[in-house]
Amino acid sequence: MTEMTGLPAPPPVGETALKPGTFAGQTVVVTGGGTGLGKAIASEFGRLGANLVIASRKPEHLQAGAAALGEIGAPVLVVGCDIREPESIAAAFEAAEDRFGLPDVLVNNAAANFPVPAEDMSPNAWRTVVDITLNGTFFCTREFGRRHLAAGTPGSIINVGASYAWTGGPGFSHSAAAKAGVKNMVESLAVEWGPYGIQVNGLVPGLFPHEDMTDDISGNLDRTHDKDPCQPALRVGERQELGWAATFLASPYGRFISGHTLVVDGANWQRRSLTNPPVVSVRDQMGRGDFTLDD
Ligand code: NAP
Repeated sequence: MTEMTGLPAPPPVGETALKPGTFAGQTVVVTGGGTGLGKAIASEFGRLGANLVIASRKPEHLQAGAAALGEIGAPVLVVGCDIREPESIAAAFEAAEDRFGLPDVLVNNAAANFPVPAEDMSPNAWRTVVDITLNGTFFCTREFGRRHLAAGTPGSIINVGASYAWTGGPGFSHSAAAKAGVKNMVESLAVEWGPYGIQVNGLVPGLFPHEDMTDDISGNLDRTHDKDPCQPALRVGERQELGWAATFLASPYGRFISGHTLVVDGANWQRRSLTNPPVVSVRDQMGRGDFTLDD
């Protein structure tokens, strides 16, 4: 029998494919850069010499991001910012410019998400997820783009997405709709701003479990089987793999890549079966009882 070994493990955290100092003198803003994948992306830019600006709401997340980048030795500014508020974003960019000059790279990583059957979703839950994930991404992108157009300088934007932008996301209809908008925005703005030297790309993680996942998300994962055998790669992602992809996209070696969304998921989103397993409703997958209008 041919052994199924899955895709090989990546090199360990700390290794880099790009030259040391690739981002020396450059400043990278990462929204939500104090936790999980945002912190991993910020760390890879930091290892390559970038100054980092981490923008999010919670002081404990900002402190965690500052600590991680401090260990790497990267200069870092943390700024409290709610990406739903354009004024808050403008203030964060002012602080970034005061400290490091106009940021060269923006990574729109911050997002909100939790699983919920559509019939149980409150209008407020829908609005909140769309407001953070889609509107917040646009507001940050707009702030970055306007500053570069005014200054006549090039820049690079990376929007972190999700593969249910293409497929739909049962149980995550708010986030999936918002991420579809984020992917579409990449395509519009890459064309609009290419003439001004601004590159716009998307970056889609597959399954990258991490210790900062919210209880809602990790609880959802806990309901499923062991994760590795459910992936074509026979393993989940290691967070440095996403960080390496982000640094490549924003590096001088990725300059002609724009309007593209790069999926880093070991082909999981392409997965289809020859035979279909029985359908299980989102309610049943989440262990919810029958729906009633009193819910
Ligand atoms: P996470 O740990 O939950 O991080 C979300 C971050 O967004 C937090 O740092 C949070 O910081 C920030 N944030 C949330 N609302 C904000 C707001 N209104 N203003 C500013 N910042 C806000 O998530 P993650 O797993 O690292 O995911 C990072 C990105 O990857 C997201 O775009 C997510 O959709 C995408 N993704 C992740 C996976 C995965 O397997 N992990 C898979 C597919 C896609 P504060 O709470 O401090 O504001």
